[in-house]
Amino acid sequence: MHPFTYTRVSDTREAVAEGSRGGRYIAGGTTLVDLMRETVEQPETLVDISGLPLHKVSVTERGGLRIGALVTMAEAAAHPKVRTLYPVISQALELSASAQLRNMATIGGNIMQRTRCTYFRDVTADCNKREPGSGCAAREGFNRTHAILGGSDHCAATHPSDVAVAFAALEARVHLLGPDGERQVPFADFLLRPGDTPNREQALRTGELITAVEIPALPRPLASGYLKVRDRQSYEFALTSAAVALHIRGGVIREARVAAGGVGTVPWKLPAVEQHVVGERPSPALWAAAAAKAADGARPLTHNRFKVELLQRTVARQLRIVGGTK
Ligand code: SF4
Repeated sequence: MHPFTYTRVSDTREAVAEGSRGGRYIAGGTTLVDLMRETVEQPETLVDISGLPLHKVSVTERGGLRIGALVTMAEAAAHPKVRTLYPVISQALELSASAQLRNMATIGGNIMQRTRCTYFRDVTADCNKREPGSGCAAREGFNRTHAILGGSDHCAATHPSDVAVAFAALEARVHLLGPDGERQVPFADFLLRPGDTPNREQALRTGELITAVEIPALPRPLASGYLKVRDRQSYEFALTSAAVALHIRGGVIREARVAAGGVGTVPWKLPAVEQHVVGERPSPALWAAAAAKAADGARPLTHNRFKVELLQRTVARQLRIVGGTK
């Protein structure tokens, strides 16, 4: 492992000052330490932020939820407000990683985690994300788990987070603190598609620290849930997934929030699916017709064409689970 310096901070301003000088934030360390061991990442300075006061889940004035960046995945999943207001978040978290990892990994770290593309983690392979301009070994290689949506000629790696799919569906906002103060970024703008610069993954400015993720208040009642399809039943990343939240009143779908995971270079919001169901009454035919739009614009690679139909089926099934068929 490359030598590095390590510093602990107890104040957010102190953290940002360290980050602005090039320090790399670390909390649970469940992604970064692995990447350092594999020499994929070689930071000069680690700034341990685990002592910062960002460990709370709270209800916002408008009735949404604010989840501190250092709340662990396990704590967020088990929190009574998360479970009752947004079960889609609890379910996405509980279907992620392992119990040990969920006890260590934080919400901020989860959305910052890097891709599981095997070529990215193999330092002998060409990878534009790890080494800009070197090429993309996945293009001609084994790309079964890669993205069918949002890729470019430079990279088609999927974003691995489950809870990020729920955040994308619910139109969360990421709270940031930087040298110039606080700002909020819509979740849809926070994670970046690869384009020509796959090495740039988040809309973060130098030194910026994630302080919280805020879920907006949504009309009640709100039924929601997360479905994850994967090669094995535990400790595996999604081939496809669907986060669905529906506000149904008087037998009519008034609002819909839908996003997919495992298929996009970022969590993939599905506005065409949402628009198709709003104003309609739940029915098997409605779910099927809406889900048929889930893979619009897909560009499969050699080994992942199966994801097109699997995505449509995943979305249809989760719409039915959350919305019923009456
Ligand atoms: Fe690297 Fe992206 Fe290509 Fe994977 S898909 S090898 S992460 S450039």
